[in-house]
Amino acid sequence: MSSSPDVVVVGAGVVGAACAYHLAAAGVRVRILDRAYVASGSSGACEGNVLAWDKELERELPLALRSAELWQSLAERLPDDFEYDRKGSVVVAETEAEMIASAERAQVLAGLGVHGEVLDADGLRREEPHSAHDLPGGVLYTGDAQLEPRLATAALVRAAVALGAELQLDTEIRRIVRDPSGRATGVETANGFVPAGAVVIAAGVWTRQLLQDCGLHVPVEPRKGQIVVLERSPVVFRRKLSEAGYVAAVEGGNDAALAIAMVVESTGSGTALLGSSRQQVGFDREVDISVAGAIAARAARFFPILREARALRVYAGLRPLTPDHIPIIGPFAEASNICVATGHEGAGIGLAPATGELVADWYTGSGTQVPLSWYSPDRFAPVELAAT
Ligand SMILES: Cc1cc2nc3c(=O)[nH]c(=O)nc-3n(C[C@H](O)[C@H](O)[C@H](O)COP(=O)(O)OP(=O)(O)OC[C@H]3O[C@@H](n4cnc5c(N)ncnc54)[C@H](O)[C@@H]3O)c2cc1C
Repeated sequence: MSSSPDVVVVGAGVVGAACAYHLAAAGVRVRILDRAYVASGSSGACEGNVLAWDKELERELPLALRSAELWQSLAERLPDDFEYDRKGSVVVAETEAEMIASAERAQVLAGLGVHGEVLDADGLRREEPHSAHDLPGGVLYTGDAQLEPRLATAALVRAAVALGAELQLDTEIRRIVRDPSGRATGVETANGFVPAGAVVIAAGVWTRQLLQDCGLHVPVEPRKGQIVVLERSPVVFRRKLSEAGYVAAVEGGNDAALAIAMVVESTGSGTALLGSSRQQVGFDREVDISVAGAIAARAARFFPILREARALRVYAGLRPLTPDHIPIIGPFAEASNICVATGHEGAGIGLAPATGELVADWYTGSGTQVPLSWYSPDRFAPVELAAT
């Protein structure tokens, strides 16, 4: 290990991996540190959808579109396969009202560079023959993709290491050490102090605590989600499928109430994944079988053939949620060499490459593809009222 890297990246999830990859590709000496192993956090307990249609239009969609380009080129360039498949996704309407709203959203997205084809009931059944007969239609987005998130994270880490990055696992960061001016001098680990020119915190749902301990504030909260994995079966869903109500579940209130929205996809290994649930119940990652049952029932409402399916396993993960549902990327005004990269909620896999590119461009001082100020951690700074 080098005695003093230019940049320490805390977290070997998909976001930290993408930051390290882009920094290393720019010639920066990087060390990735994680208390466990690669993709041991949320990036190893999720799905791998790379979607544009569901994104917030002003600040999230530009990041998603850039990321979609980058994932495609990474799939072509990186030596390790990560089951990238630009299979397209179908948004399925349950009611006529949802059909109208979905067609309107497709029109808005078309103006922003996302192509969608509106499907009537017959068109939906052509795209997905297992659809329930009462469904009015949907929208096909051919640009959407799917990948295997653990393989993709590992592929980015391996590519970063091939470019000279160092990987130090099984190393807990206890504290970010700051000098009197507020700048970081390095990080204190269980194995000693690691000096660094800059620190990138990509610690997912654990970012808040780590920064709080050094006097900085990011309001990231865990939002639990569960996935039901089905046994291999001859029933294959060609596209990635989501119900139109999915966006309402994502944008819904930040609270403990359970929100279920159908997402279904077949995987490269022949299983199928059923989601999705959202619930704020702290850092609990225990599987709740009643939630898994509700996920399966919702999927079978859209695709009745799934009533015959058998579950292989269920897992739970935590999405890093911010109050405004927009990621936090960039340095603090009061600590200009501490950069945050988190808060991507249910889109961290999709948005990781553009996040890594932004972080590398920030560090090297190159112009960024999208304005870094949109994602600044300072937007949550507490307002101090002047005393009268
Ligand atoms: C059920 C579910 C389904 C999802 N589906 C999708 C999807 O289809 N598409 C999509 O784009 N996103 C999806 N997501 C969201 C996605 O999983 C996350 O946004 C993403 O994985 C976050 O990545 P990350 O690198 O920020 O965090 P993580 O993967 O959690 O990585 C953070 C890392 O930091 C390390 N760490 C934390 N604290 C410390 C410390 N003090 N010292 C050292 N290391 C530390 C942890 O060990 C961990 O490895 C889903 C999430 C869930 C829960």
